[in-house]
Amino acid sequence: MDLPPQFGAQINRNDVSTKKVGRPFAMVDLDNECCIGCGACADLCPEVFEMDERSRRARVIIFEVTDRNCIDEAIATCPVECISWKAG
Ligand code: SF4
Repeated sequence: MDLPPQFGAQINRNDVSTKKVGRPFAMVDLDNECCIGCGACADLCPEVFEMDERSRRARVIIFEVTDRNCIDEAIATCPVECISWKAG
């Protein structure tokens, strides 16, 4: 069933492009299995990473990151390379 033009315009999501606007944040990823619990990432970026007392491994507490320099430094510092930017 074809909708009248006015309804078609309302539901046409092809007009919405997030690529034109861009995201104000980037997504960070942490492979919890490879973490050796050194604590460097939590020291560098405490607003993004914290140490889990039980597992003694780092975890991400905020996935949508605005301070990219801090994460770049954590990625470079992690001795087992388990922090990365999430693609997409
Ligand atoms: S820097 Fe790497 S190894 Fe160290 S706590 Fe963070 S994720 Fe784990």
